[in-house]
Amino acid sequence: MPHDVITDTTGPTGPTDTPPSPVHDSPGATRRGLLAGAAALGGFVVLGRAAPALAAPKVSERAWRDLDRRFSGALLRPGASGFRGAAQPNNLLYADRLPAGIARCRTARDVATAITWCREHDVPLAPRGGGHSYAGYSTTRGLLVDLAALNEASFDENTGRVTVGAGVKNRKLYEVLAGVGVSITHGRCYGVGVGGFLLGGGIGFNMRLHGVGSDKLVETDVVGADGVLRSARAGGEEDLFWACRGDAGRNFGINTRFVVETFDVDDITAFDLTWSRKPEQVAEALIPALQRATRRLGSRVTLRAVTPQDRREGRDVRVSLLGQLHGPRAELLEILAPVFAVAPALKRTIRTLPYWEGQKLLTEEGGPEHYKERSRFVDTPFDGAALDEAFRHARRFPGTGGSASLKLFQTGKTMNEMPARSTAFVHRRSQWLFSTAFTFEESDGRRTVAAATDWLDETYEAMVPFCGEGAFQNFPDPALRDWATQYYGVNLARLREVKAAVDPDDVFRFGQSIRGSA
Ligand SMILES: Cc1cc2nc3c(=O)[nH]c(=O)nc-3n(C[C@H](O)[C@H](O)[C@H](O)COP(=O)(O)OP(=O)(O)OC[C@H]3O[C@@H](n4cnc5c(N)ncnc54)[C@H](O)[C@@H]3O)c2cc1C
Repeated sequence: MPHDVITDTTGPTGPTDTPPSPVHDSPGATRRGLLAGAAALGGFVVLGRAAPALAAPKVSERAWRDLDRRFSGALLRPGASGFRGAAQPNNLLYADRLPAGIARCRTARDVATAITWCREHDVPLAPRGGGHSYAGYSTTRGLLVDLAALNEASFDENTGRVTVGAGVKNRKLYEVLAGVGVSITHGRCYGVGVGGFLLGGGIGFNMRLHGVGSDKLVETDVVGADGVLRSARAGGEEDLFWACRGDAGRNFGINTRFVVETFDVDDITAFDLTWSRKPEQVAEALIPALQRATRRLGSRVTLRAVTPQDRREGRDVRVSLLGQLHGPRAELLEILAPVFAVAPALKRTIRTLPYWEGQKLLTEEGGPEHYKERSRFVDTPFDGAALDEAFRHARRFPGTGGSASLKLFQTGKTMNEMPARSTAFVHRRSQWLFSTAFTFEESDGRRTVAAATDWLDETYEAMVPFCGEGAFQNFPDPALRDWATQYYGVNLARLREVKAAVDPDDVFRFGQSIRGSA
């Protein structure tokens, strides 16, 4: 733990974890006292903590020019060409939270300069990798530390490891890994940042066979609140390394580089199926069939909610299944035989292909759009009573210009074989990750969105008794009351200790950031 480079021991003085408002933005940097000898990359002292601020910080033009001068990347201010595009997050619900400036970092030194400058000028900051935070946590009214230009990705044949910069997105990762026939546990959307994905654990169709994404993280470089770059790994900065494997980011510093162990991949059977007939009976056959299946199977079940238009046109809930089997088609058909015995699929794509060819059937762009989503891990079998409740809510969606769903991501097996305390990612007993979500259009009125939000909350609360403890920190949920316990469980106390040690002034602070020990 880097006690040696942090000179202030005042510790955090702010409130304990509280539910944030979706439009809450807190200053990440404070300067109520002395800022002594702030060398660009050295340790320094900042005292106190400011109250949450929604307004843009007041910073002189001279100070902005100073940042521009010290910085090797581009600094964008409002009105500059490219500012709007660079500011836009994936979840358009947060698109009006515009930064006072965007620091497009080219190097780790730029990242350090941005952090140091923010502390000198009391400017809140938010790092952004791919910008896909559900809750808009890579937006700020202060300085957006844009990592997109840190986009180097390379595979080392000797170690079997892939190294990615903090700005690398899935699209580039897929290209690099496909070229050498290996993979990691990854998600399905091209624009998601690999760093953000790994920091929150990272779920994907490979997790039942190889663990969550962060289980294979072997090293990460982090620029701390003091502007110092540390390499965190087994054998060096171990507490910080432990914490970066599941904290979900923006808590301890800004990670600039990630090294991940890969595994070889062969042919997979990719599948994308939808049933419209007998949806309840299909789901009742499908869930246990998947629960019994080999760890080589990864899947997601979706109940597509009935919209008002569906209701008018006589359509019911549709059940979809998307996923992959590291194995032949015949094995998949055997797993799904009890389901096909209930009803044939309306849409049926099943193809056995080389791994990365198969991914093309499973990946998608994924926004930007307006959405809300809530999640809960399920640590018991998802049985008939749970399904009855899920269908009841899927038939009650009041409607928006978008759509709504209830989803079950299949978890378990290898990802549950690591002890809960072995990394910050604590969720090691689940069989499913349940989530419910809706999308909407900008043209939807307040009342429409409020009614859909009520539906979402009612659905979520109704499903909690059928789930268990734990919400997924990579799907941050501003409406979750006990979020710190739900995201981190038994690891919360240690995460708070790491926070107190590496960021005692709470520079990295937002609505759901980890607070240091009291
Ligand atoms: C369409 C879509 C599909 C998704 N699919 C999956 C999936 O299959 N599996 C899964 O596990 N998750 C998935 N997610 C969730 C996603 O992994 C998380 O939202 C992740 O945090 C996104 O990372 P990002 O870099 O794109 O987002 P950002 O919004 O840039 O970052 C997310 C958070 O991490 C912080 N952060 C980002 N980079 C750094 C860094 N280098 N150092 C410190 N803090 C940092 C940000 O400040 C923010 O708080 C999906 C999300 C979307 C919108």
